[in-house]
Amino acid sequence: MKVLVVNCGSSSIKYQLVDMTDESVLAKGLVDRVGIPGTLLKHEPTDKDEVVIKKDLPDHTEGMKLVLDVLINPEYGVIKSMDEIGAVGHRVVHGGEAFAESVVIDDQVIQVIRECFDIAPLHNPPNLMGIEACQELMPNVKHIAVFDTAFHQTMPAKNFMYALPYESYEQFKVRRYGFHGTSHFYVSHRAAEMLGKSFEECKIVTLHLGNGGSMAAIADGKVVDTSMGFTPLEGLVMGTRCGDIDPAIVFFLMEKMNLSASDMNNYLNKKSGMLGLSGVSNDLRDVLEAAEAGNERAKLALDVYISRVKGYLGNYVAQLNGCDCLVFTAGVGENSIEIREAICENLDYLGIKMDADKNKVRGKEVDVAANDSKVRIFIIPTNEELVIARDTYRLAQ
Ligand code: ADP
Repeated sequence: MKVLVVNCGSSSIKYQLVDMTDESVLAKGLVDRVGIPGTLLKHEPTDKDEVVIKKDLPDHTEGMKLVLDVLINPEYGVIKSMDEIGAVGHRVVHGGEAFAESVVIDDQVIQVIRECFDIAPLHNPPNLMGIEACQELMPNVKHIAVFDTAFHQTMPAKNFMYALPYESYEQFKVRRYGFHGTSHFYVSHRAAEMLGKSFEECKIVTLHLGNGGSMAAIADGKVVDTSMGFTPLEGLVMGTRCGDIDPAIVFFLMEKMNLSASDMNNYLNKKSGMLGLSGVSNDLRDVLEAAEAGNERAKLALDVYISRVKGYLGNYVAQLNGCDCLVFTAGVGENSIEIREAICENLDYLGIKMDADKNKVRGKEVDVAANDSKVRIFIIPTNEELVIARDTYRLAQ
């Protein structure tokens, strides 16, 4: 069976067509600027040249139509007809408390995705647009939803509850959900394979460090804790998100700077993090370069970033009573030699010792721990699309 994996953002559609007989990727691509003049489709068939198509497209349905046209195009397509697509897997960011695993989409599932609009206003509406567009164009196949929050639903109440009046949970579902769950799921399962143990036996700390970033503590096959919370704003210092702050700062700054709630939301989500602190960029490569050139604020931003990660690491190792391995993944985790080294520096007390030479790699699945390190340190490139394709294949059968 061939499975189409779809990930819709507010103005983008990412797709991948996977042949489940050997899990090979037949083609992948991105439609950018959907609904904005200058829509661009970049299609990368595995055994053919890349194609770029410029065509203004008003909405996700037209965007998906173009994706399907490209997939069956005699010249740069990879299948003969749409009938070869056996099922479609959709990335959905928020499944609330309803979904601890992937599901076949029906009216009730759509209703729950819609009910989560309130708590995931930036993500769930475009995710649903993608689902509805695909259902319209491919009515005869099963559509599966794979939720970013699902894996974290195994987290115990002691770590998902905030110390707010209980009514905020009962009435408004204010609790910690966690995100990047599909990535934490993939890399932690790969880590168990690399350790040669069953997943349920392992204690793992995963570090998904990209433009957004989150960590997770995993034991007994379950998430014990994760750093993102009610929204992806909580936790680590990210590209443009502040991560943990004293909540009183919100009211203080709103008053001082005369900001509305939506201005403040923007301030914390888009203007903070590495960008706000360094004044240089949200991209860690730029911040590292500026720090290297002597920029003091860039150096400070990096120190804050590293210190926050170390804080969570200590917390998680304490909660797990030790761990078998750390896993670095996503843009920064897979590629930044400097950041990985800085995070693992001076952790020998916890049994974490990196081999600086082994660590000089980018984007490869390797163990970079010193031979005498008690804890393995893995770099594992994440593959959320593969998890979505596998779940889709399993549920479509
Ligand atoms: P997203 O959260 O948007 O999915 P990614 O996981 O693709 O992000 O990570 C993108 C980020 O990875 C970039 O913003 C950049 O900061 C970081 N990055 C990529 N390569 C490197 C590198 N060699 N050194 C440091 N940071 C890197």
